[in-house]
Amino acid sequence: MYSIKMFGVREEEITIAQNWAAENNIKLSMTKEILTMDNLAEVNGFDGISLSQVGRLPDEIYPKLAQMGIKQLAQRSAGVDMYNLELAKENGIIITNVPSYSPESIAEFTVTTALELIRRTEKIRQRVASHDFSWEPIIRGRVLGNMTVAVIGTGRIGQITAKLFKGFGAKVVGYDLYPNKELTDILEYQDTLVDAVKQADVISLHMPAVKENYHAFDYAMFKNCKKDALLLNMARGSLVDTKALLQALDEGLLQGAGIDTYEYEAPYMPKDFSSKEITDELFLALINHPQVIYTPHIAYYTDEAVKNLVEGGLDATLEVLNTGDAKTRVN
Ligand code: NAD
Repeated sequence: MYSIKMFGVREEEITIAQNWAAENNIKLSMTKEILTMDNLAEVNGFDGISLSQVGRLPDEIYPKLAQMGIKQLAQRSAGVDMYNLELAKENGIIITNVPSYSPESIAEFTVTTALELIRRTEKIRQRVASHDFSWEPIIRGRVLGNMTVAVIGTGRIGQITAKLFKGFGAKVVGYDLYPNKELTDILEYQDTLVDAVKQADVISLHMPAVKENYHAFDYAMFKNCKKDALLLNMARGSLVDTKALLQALDEGLLQGAGIDTYEYEAPYMPKDFSSKEITDELFLALINHPQVIYTPHIAYYTDEAVKNLVEGGLDATLEVLNTGDAKTRVN
């Protein structure tokens, strides 16, 4: 019987993991702590590891894990930017992810946030809470179906998002390094990112964060936006220069933003800071900005996604233990 250690376990994952372990005849041990150099000894005696890291795993951990006989690390998310993939490989450690656990969840949350911005629901609720039921332009909305939406990155999540926006009647334009011919019924690909941004009322980001698109949305890019454009970032924080975004909003270069991923979110996600101090002034400025709807990297967070993530991470762990490789290997 194989034994698997699961790190970073949240309460809601426990029953799903226990059921999986019973079905697959696996000895499972769980801890809510994430894996660090300090608790590395907890790995001793286990065959496989399932992780839910948010911050970067230190480089010195890979040779130590290899010495302990560890052959794989299964991340329970799609993003693997918290791992040094090359170094892991050099140490004989296979990194796997769960690439597609519920793209519908992120796509639906993207549209939800777009509609909240378009119909100004936050402001309406604030006014209702103070018993102000008056009608004024500050809470007047627009019709999504009359808008042009730019979907930037038309992979698993982007293409479902494009279909949903199209379903509202919006015109959808797309930008991707590798346009997908099968999507041409839904969207019109543009040759450049700037071409897509210039015509968009809603700009929705769904590309991975890589060196080439670091701060792709900087002050210069915001100058291409329509004055009443809305930016949605449900992808990765580093795609957007947050300081430039707040300046652009203040100067009226665009109208609003729905931000689910923030570049320096790692110390805060997913934690309760209600009685702790937030020292990141930029983060405070973002979450308190009146034209921003900020959500804590939660676009994926549905019943379906949580189940698929737990089972996907454990399936990948077992696959490596059984076969020495995995379909979801990323290094
Ligand atoms: P995917 O790999 O299926 O699709 C990404 C697409 O982006 C691909 O078509 C690729 O060609 C394109 N692309 C890559 N670099 C590009 C660039 N520089 N310019 C334009 N297009 C580019 O990925 P996915 O599963 O659809 O995930 C999309 C994003 O959503 C990722 O950043 C992922 O980390 C993020 N995500 C967020 C959440 C959340 O809860 N907020 C959850 C899951 C995934």
